[in-house]
Amino acid sequence: MDRAAQAGFQSRFHRSATGLWSAPGRVNLIGEHTDYNDGFVLPLAIDRRTVVALSTRTDRVVRVASSFAAETVEVSLDELVPEKLDGWSAYPLGVAWALGQFGADLTAVPGFEVYIDSDVPVGAGLSSSAALESAVAVALNDVWDLSLGRATLARVGQLAENRVVGAPTGIMDQSASLLGQADAAVFLDCRSLAAEVIPLGLNPAGLELLIIDTRVSHSHATGGYAARRKSCEAGARALGVPALRDLSLHDLPRAQAMLDDETFRRVRHIVTENQRVLDTVEALRSSGCTAIGPLLDASHRSMRDDFEISAPELDVAVDTARRAGAIGARMTGGGFGGASIALTPTELVPAVTAAVMVAFTERGFATPDVFVVHAADGAARDSGARP
Ligand code: ADP
Ligand code: MG
Repeated sequence: MDRAAQAGFQSRFHRSATGLWSAPGRVNLIGEHTDYNDGFVLPLAIDRRTVVALSTRTDRVVRVASSFAAETVEVSLDELVPEKLDGWSAYPLGVAWALGQFGADLTAVPGFEVYIDSDVPVGAGLSSSAALESAVAVALNDVWDLSLGRATLARVGQLAENRVVGAPTGIMDQSASLLGQADAAVFLDCRSLAAEVIPLGLNPAGLELLIIDTRVSHSHATGGYAARRKSCEAGARALGVPALRDLSLHDLPRAQAMLDDETFRRVRHIVTENQRVLDTVEALRSSGCTAIGPLLDASHRSMRDDFEISAPELDVAVDTARRAGAIGARMTGGGFGGASIALTPTELVPAVTAAVMVAFTERGFATPDVFVVHAADGAARDSGARP
């Protein structure tokens, strides 16, 4: 992919890129919709990456291009304001703007040209958006000589996504993409932003993490996400806590007595899911990854029944994978489509894949994309030409 990014840069900008940087997509092992409730998440960076080939210019012009789009978008650094940016280029340009909010002097830095190439599937719940933001953030951090730390760059990506793209997402995706390590997950406290790398040891235990990308996105995804956030906020307000993070399992009887049934079930998902993240981290530390299957299963049931963000395709993927030998499975990501994950004994990967294909065909679902991912290192400068 590095070569393709170099070649793409050459063909769009008629010169060589002086550097290559890349950042991974991510998958969330457990902890769904907990991020905006100040809770816990446990994502991992995956071996699908977005590469950016980039060179600075001697003027104020910024030009962005992607293998993904025919057009090359050109702006001046003087016009980098959130209101003027839209479409796919809002992600890379939004990062440049957001760096200005975190200390970069945008009146003094040089313009640049960037070409983006990626094998992170878009809209599959693997966060192609954070991969893109993080790759651009580390690249500009280097060429603009900003010396911002990784935790700050995660906040830069989030600010770009929130303010420029207009998606009210948490800090999880960028943290995973920037802080991930090979064969490890990132345990993130979304309140303190403390992050800890937790070894997974999947392959030594004879396990693989299978992604089942259903390739469906149901039309109520955006509205559903906003509605869930509102329910969570309403639940926290009614129960007198700053965020649902501040409730524990002991508070659930009181919550049930005070809340309407639907709000209660939304609250119960968040409270039990936070506990499942803590239990998963504990299980990984004390017993290893073979012990986390039941927690993944319980997480899926909670999203399906209490939070109601699953979809028929996600449920069929999970149920079929489990019946074919996966030791735990759950839908991952925001819901209403996207992907499920299945923790699968290595020798059963072909059987689980085949069973899922058959089940989808039988139900007349679109053909899913089923593939193994490995936990990978976070954003980095790739080898290649130096400026
Ligand atoms: P995901 O779950 O993949 O993050 P999002 O909707 O959050 O889905 O982000 C996908 C959007 O990010 C795309 O529609 C596009 O605008 C932008 N994007 C992602 N990858 C690329 C890329 N390689 N080139 C250009 N834009 C990209
Ligand atoms: Mg995204």
